[in-house]
Amino acid sequence: MSKLVVGNWKLHFDLEESVSLAKEIGAGNKGNYITGVAPVFTSLASVCKENAGSKLRIYAQNCHWENSGAFTGAISPRVLKNLGCHGVIIGHSERRHVFGETDEMISKKVAAAISEGLEVILCVGETLAERDAGNANATVKAQLDSGLSNVSDAGIERLVVAYEPVWAIGTGKTATPEIAQAMHQGIRAQLIAWNNKAKSVSILYGGSVKPANCKALLSQPDIDGALVGGASLKADTFLPIVNSGHIAK
Ligand code: PEP
Repeated sequence: MSKLVVGNWKLHFDLEESVSLAKEIGAGNKGNYITGVAPVFTSLASVCKENAGSKLRIYAQNCHWENSGAFTGAISPRVLKNLGCHGVIIGHSERRHVFGETDEMISKKVAAAISEGLEVILCVGETLAERDAGNANATVKAQLDSGLSNVSDAGIERLVVAYEPVWAIGTGKTATPEIAQAMHQGIRAQLIAWNNKAKSVSILYGGSVKPANCKALLSQPDIDGALVGGASLKADTFLPIVNSGHIAK
């Protein structure tokens, strides 16, 4: 499976800032991990163009499930593919909890993006209330079951899963390496039980990953990389993560 670190820039940076940070990350990246960044939609075309031929992968942060139609404000998987995006993040907790995306919507987006040839980073993760109630495993299992429900055999090679406990995103609270490993192990088992081909699906951890905690997290056997929010907004904090640990083949 690929060892991958992706920076989710959320709603940060204008066009110039996005192009400049992507360049800085590309220049400082030693290639230990496959590396990607997810700028805002309006910066994607320029960041893709400026990085064409480089190893930096460019991801969108969301997309719709239809390629055209009366969907004001939506962006299609086909448009993202045509821009040169490598992939798209689907089901991020902010899309689920701030924008009200349901498992059903997410499952349609996953299938549509994969069928357009995009890699999909499917995000799953429990809230603090769900964890405190002892429902962390059940929540993640249900999100994953639904997210995978329309993925074909052939699409599995374009699937990445990110485990992102909602209580750890942007809060400074990180899951301990032991909690994260246990959740990743469960996700891996579920993927394999679903389809043996899915043993090669990379599982990223996300939730306040920083230079100080990345090694302990990324050295866990079932953590194949990271989805990084806050620490991806500066080369000074993102590069130590992408340059830590694993050497990509
Ligand atoms: C994220 O947005 O996916 C994320 C993990 O954010 P942060 O690293 O800031 O917790």
